[in-house]
Amino acid sequence: MARGFSTMLARKIRISTVPGEWREVLECEHCDAQGECEVEIAVPDYIRGGDLTTGYGQCPVCEGRGYVELPEDEDDDQG
Ligand SMILES: [Zn+2]
Repeated sequence: MARGFSTMLARKIRISTVPGEWREVLECEHCDAQGECEVEIAVPDYIRGGDLTTGYGQCPVCEGRGYVELPEDEDDDQG
């Protein structure tokens, strides 16, 4: 067990993108696995040259999927 780990690990979930094929992914913490969250939206403004506002939209971290891929295992068997 790793001790002194201050960062909470994202929850692992199993999903099936292909029927019969399951894989583990991590719940997206950015959007709470909803796929949508508050994001910055560029507002075109020809008078002031554009502005940024916040609104509800697709999560930029998981691209709207609600989960992110697990980091790849670093295997040093070959290379
Ligand atoms: Zn997300």
